[in-house]
Amino acid sequence: LRINLHLGLDVVELHIGLADIRNRCAVHSESGSVMVIPREQIATGEYLTRLYVQDPGDVDAKADRTTTPGDEKKSSDKKKRAEVTLEYIFGQANAVFAPYKIKIREGTVPDWYAAYQIGQRMSPKFSSRTPDGVDRIFIVGDACHTHSPKAGQGMNVSMMDSFNLSWKLAHSILGLTPHASENGADTVLETFEAERVDTARQLIEFDAKFSHMFSGKLNAETGLTHDEFLKVFRDGSGFTSGCGLEYKPSRLIWSPQNSDDMVVATGDPINGALTVGRRFLNVELKRYADNTTRQLHDELPSNGRYRLMVLTSSDLLEPDRQSQKALEACATIADKHPAGSIDLAIIHPLKERFEWTQIPSCVKRLAEMRTYGLAKTEDAYKIYGITKEQGAIVAIRPDGYVGALCRLSALDTVEKYFQGCLITI
Ligand SMILES: Cc1cc2nc3c(=O)[nH]c(=O)nc-3n(C[C@H](O)[C@H](O)[C@H](O)COP(=O)(O)OP(=O)(O)OC[C@H]3O[C@@H](n4cnc5c(N)ncnc54)[C@H](O)[C@@H]3O)c2cc1C
Repeated sequence: LRINLHLGLDVVELHIGLADIRNRCAVHSESGSVMVIPREQIATGEYLTRLYVQDPGDVDAKADRTTTPGDEKKSSDKKKRAEVTLEYIFGQANAVFAPYKIKIREGTVPDWYAAYQIGQRMSPKFSSRTPDGVDRIFIVGDACHTHSPKAGQGMNVSMMDSFNLSWKLAHSILGLTPHASENGADTVLETFEAERVDTARQLIEFDAKFSHMFSGKLNAETGLTHDEFLKVFRDGSGFTSGCGLEYKPSRLIWSPQNSDDMVVATGDPINGALTVGRRFLNVELKRYADNTTRQLHDELPSNGRYRLMVLTSSDLLEPDRQSQKALEACATIADKHPAGSIDLAIIHPLKERFEWTQIPSCVKRLAEMRTYGLAKTEDAYKIYGITKEQGAIVAIRPDGYVGALCRLSALDTVEKYFQGCLITI
């Protein structure tokens, strides 16, 4: 395996005839590759641009990836990185951009530049147990997975590692997780490693492919086409946003094995179709209590609570039909767990106005300010891929991932799901 030394550079303003300098893009030429990453506005009012420039001189990274490189190798790589100058980076960038030219605007200096060597590495374990069988040591971020920085994933995935861990750790420390398994492990907490090791593995596979494509040339000889490159480029956004990830079935992720209990939403998860194992996406809604327009993600902040979200069916106002039964049962389920550990939230599809007295009283008691109708601008049922005739119950984890997606009648399944996540009182 051979990988390349890459050069990174953040500059304020570039003189370049290339129209795409304000768009994230990759430029391939016979001289190599450059990735252009438009960045944020800074205090001076200027916008930063980052360039990742591939160094044409190969560096053998085999030893770096699988073993600890010898001192001689380490110091020669270090020396090579130290020798990289700004002129060298611009020389290489200009060779790739030719016939366009690129240079720093007079009177400005680069914000940052460095040379670094890409290596995809990952720790086999992200947590470790003390002799009593309890996970007490955790690693997140670059400590457990490193890869190329080109796809803008490192910090995002690192923060999501911590986000995945933090609520599980808090629940475990506060004694909210159900009794430990026979070997003393906390079965909720141990899903951290399973979920994030799998994510890191997918990320590293993606990154190896992406880096390889970035360094390769787009031509008939290599067989790499522009469309293939673009597809992989787009797939990367799923990692950056977390919306492309799908956690595998576990105690916290119930896959639809029993079709009588589970709902399968229609549509593309990336556009919002509720999917077990994926993040639930935002929708705009009208809050029933005060008739104001709300964004669901703002309404359900990340505060360590599970959400039991009932999308009622159109029979909501009919006593003893599935919607009212589901609402009453969900209130009972929420009451069986420690106060504040599950928030009830309700979405209904009705166009006509109704009174609190027409729906079960538990709704006002538990979800007065979390009961919503449809907004004028969008239809939450359509976005979530749920029919108004059928409705659904969605168990949402504290990190916003869908844990279970059930029919309104599957109340035992919903109850069992929460018994697996939280202690009962
Ligand atoms: C050139 C480059 C460009 C990048 N661009 C992007 C990007 O555009 N988008 C993106 O999402 N990611 C990007 N990344 C990746 C991102 O920077 C990392 O993935 C992220 O910083 C990892 O965060 P972390 O907290 O795990 O590790 P770090 O940010 O490395 O934090 C670890 C901290 O621990 C400290 N430390 C180490 N040892 C000890 C010790 N013994 N005691 C106390 N403290 C210690 C270190 O000093 C450091 O401050 C880029 C990386 C590089 C190299």
